[in-house]
Amino acid sequence: MITALVLVVGVVTTGVAMPAVLSTLSRTSLSPAAHLCMWWSAIASTGLSAVAALLVLLLPGHGGLAAAEWLLASCWAALRSGPLHLDGAAAFAVTALLAVAAVRATTRIGRSLATVRNRSRTLLTMLGPIGEWEQGVLWIDHSDALAFSLGGRAQAVVASTGLRRRLGASEIQAVLDHERSHLVGRHHVQVLIAEALARALPVLPLFRRAPQAIRHLVELAADERAARYNDRTVLRRALLGIASGGHSEVPPGALGAAGTSVEHRLRRLTHDQRQHSRERQIGECTLAIVTGTMLPLLAGSAAALLLFLVSCA
Ligand SMILES: [Zn+2]
Repeated sequence: MITALVLVVGVVTTGVAMPAVLSTLSRTSLSPAAHLCMWWSAIASTGLSAVAALLVLLLPGHGGLAAAEWLLASCWAALRSGPLHLDGAAAFAVTALLAVAAVRATTRIGRSLATVRNRSRTLLTMLGPIGEWEQGVLWIDHSDALAFSLGGRAQAVVASTGLRRRLGASEIQAVLDHERSHLVGRHHVQVLIAEALARALPVLPLFRRAPQAIRHLVELAADERAARYNDRTVLRRALLGIASGGHSEVPPGALGAAGTSVEHRLRRLTHDQRQHSRERQIGECTLAIVTGTMLPLLAGSAAALLLFLVSCA
């Protein structure tokens, strides 16, 4: 029970406090890719800690941590003999909550992945006959300036003839590179999983706020990658051209070139001229993953220390 309690406290603390921490970090010079790594490592470690807590509760014989467990168990016993009377009922309630959360999250993610895989393929099958393939891009006849990418089984970039009429060749190339970056980075899957987790476990702010943050960050990450091959001024002009080039919505599940955070992206392309090297991004990402993974453990350990101070010190 003690190990599970430490893990659950770590899950709750990280789940509640992490969005504020990540929001503060977004004002630093970390690359969008590193921010994504931080979000996902925090989400993954929170989920894994919850599953670990569930296993410890269901399989008590596997939850022991030798001396530390014994010490905390003694402290826990001291608390139980006091006015709190936390016992089996609490363990049962926590087990039930964790089990329901785990089943809901797994089911939602599985269902969402299956839906988007089929939907993107169906959409491409419908658009194929009315468009023309050219260098891996499906060009469809539409007056608005449209460009979007389809994840899942389709893995395709779709653009409109309106885009060709409104943008120059270099701007079109920048837009297509932005869309290809979404495919390379598996951004559709990231958005999809974040949305499924938010629907399954909206009670935790970390999960509830993930879809908006991930959508924003994948756009910044795609801009960052496109800026490796294109001038930032050209990319900015392209974004402006698409944003003012019509009001058509992109299909559900697709990532449009100018669908999210346009103002922020334009500001960033104008004022932030830093180009993060691939090596620096890998280094930042590794650091972000280690930090994000450690957070639930650190929060849980702090709770264990508090328990020790309250009951045994
Ligand atoms: Zn995009």
